[in-house]
Amino acid sequence: MFDRNGTFSVTARLAALLTGTVLARPRRLLLALLLLGVPVAAALAAGWSAGLAEADLRERVAAQLALFDANLRAELERHAAVPLALARDGEVAALLTDPTPERIARMNDKLSGIAQALDASALYIMNSAGLTLTASNWDSPNGFVGQNFAYRPYFQRAMDQGEGHHFALGTTSFVPGYYTAHRVVAENRTVGVVVLKVAFDRLERAWAPGQEKLLVSDRDGVVFITNVPEWRYRALPRQLPIALPVRPDGSSEGMDVLPWAFAGAADRIALADPAGGERRFLLASIAMPGGDWTLHSLTSLDPVTARAQGAGLLAAALTALAAMAVHALALRRAALAERLALEEATRLELERRVAEATAELRATENELTQAAKLAALGQMSAGIAHEINQPLAALRSFADNAVVLLDRGRLDAVRGNLAEIAELTDRMAAITRQLKGFARRASGTLGPVSIQGSVAQALALFEARLRREEVEVVLDLPDSPLWVVGEDVRLQQVLVNLIGNAADAMRGRPLRRLTIAARVDASPTTATGGPDLWLSVADSGTGIAAADLPRLFVPFFTTKEAGDGLGLGLSISHGIVEDLGGSLTAANQPDGGAVFTLRLKLVDQPL
Ligand code: ADP
Repeated sequence: MFDRNGTFSVTARLAALLTGTVLARPRRLLLALLLLGVPVAAALAAGWSAGLAEADLRERVAAQLALFDANLRAELERHAAVPLALARDGEVAALLTDPTPERIARMNDKLSGIAQALDASALYIMNSAGLTLTASNWDSPNGFVGQNFAYRPYFQRAMDQGEGHHFALGTTSFVPGYYTAHRVVAENRTVGVVVLKVAFDRLERAWAPGQEKLLVSDRDGVVFITNVPEWRYRALPRQLPIALPVRPDGSSEGMDVLPWAFAGAADRIALADPAGGERRFLLASIAMPGGDWTLHSLTSLDPVTARAQGAGLLAAALTALAAMAVHALALRRAALAERLALEEATRLELERRVAEATAELRATENELTQAAKLAALGQMSAGIAHEINQPLAALRSFADNAVVLLDRGRLDAVRGNLAEIAELTDRMAAITRQLKGFARRASGTLGPVSIQGSVAQALALFEARLRREEVEVVLDLPDSPLWVVGEDVRLQQVLVNLIGNAADAMRGRPLRRLTIAARVDASPTTATGGPDLWLSVADSGTGIAAADLPRLFVPFFTTKEAGDGLGLGLSISHGIVEDLGGSLTAANQPDGGAVFTLRLKLVDQPL
């Protein structure tokens, strides 16, 4: 994971990015959206939809309840007129005044005919003592004839107030019914009561169990009409959480209570489902006219639940879809960010490497420059030693001669010898000065350098060699001094390289001519911006093989024997000239030999 330099590598950094932050974020986002968003959206949608559905349901239930109420009332009122009509019937009054067997028999037939037509449970007439004289069911085993119902509230109320209503379980038939009684008045005296008993089985059948469970409770809170048979004669729960239009007065004591559980809101009732579990219903109640009865309906909340579930599921699905979409978007953004991060990391890494390589190169170049200088110095020192040996030997012989001449008193000749000695030491001093200058490291500061001076100094270093190898030196330099931007030591180093290479190329050649020429280009088109100086170093040597031309300035390119050349001279020279803001190029001359051309920035005069 760590590269050679101990830094965290790009790939490792990217891997960390990928696994750690960038990709994890969208995944976490999706999880959060799914875990939080889906249930919340489902719950909200379900709640909202349930609210709407329940409001619809309540409206429908209210309308239906009114319909059932009208229905029930119509059923009751259909019969209410019958006892009243009979109470005014003269035949009935006559019967009650004088109950002859014929009248009773006739009335029995009449009553059973009417009861049958009405589909009533029973129609009967009692005398003022409550004894039943005649009845529609006179011929049935449980017929009412001969029975005394004086204790029944409807009888008492009819006797007292003219009309009595009561719901009760038949004492003989055990069939529940609604009793309507009217008193019969003859000769200003109450002679008896006509009673009609109606059972509600027909009505209940009409209310066959559908979505609604219907029930009618009486003043005592006891259910007496219902389309749920097992609820009949059961009492409403004593502690109702809702306010009923008619409060049960509590005399249902001891009766079974409806199996209702109140769930959540006060008007919601949970009923155990025979299939298991429980179902919820909405309870609605209205008081019936007359004030005693209350009609209740229980409507299933299943459609509300179903609608809420549907809306919840839809919302959950939509939210999940939206979450996926957001996730996909986030993934794309993360991928983009990751790509950008990768590109940025790669760029930074590249920059770092380039900077590193450049620094390394620079250091190497410096070292090589120094090494090459030392190598050249080594090469030259042999020549220079040779160069100095001669004047040294001459010095010695001039000194010896001077002593002899002094002894002989030939002072003029001695003076001549001493002058020779002084000249010789000057020459030797000049050589050592060159060496010192050459070995010094470049100062790094640029200034005006004289071309004529640099050429002369470089040639001076080669003087002995060029003379020994009989090289003809042709100088084509303007007389007026030319100054270029540079550093004399470095410029000399370049010239020394070029002259040395030229001498190498001409070794053993029949014609050995070194031409150094300078030309001023007053209208430069180059990047230097100012007037340029073109300095060429041409030789009559071997020339450069065409294949080698492009590689000439590549470090360590050499065609020389091992030990003779390092292949560094030209590359270093090239670097130096570029540093000085100039250029160095090589070419072959048409008539043989190579020419190296230096372009340097010209300055008017020394600053
Ligand atoms: P070196 O002199 O150590 O070989 P250089 O970089 O100075 O290194 O020269 C590289 C090569 O360029 C030489 O080996 C030689 O083949 C070629 N070269 C340089 N100068 C000349 C020239 N004047 N004539 C022919 N070939 C040359």
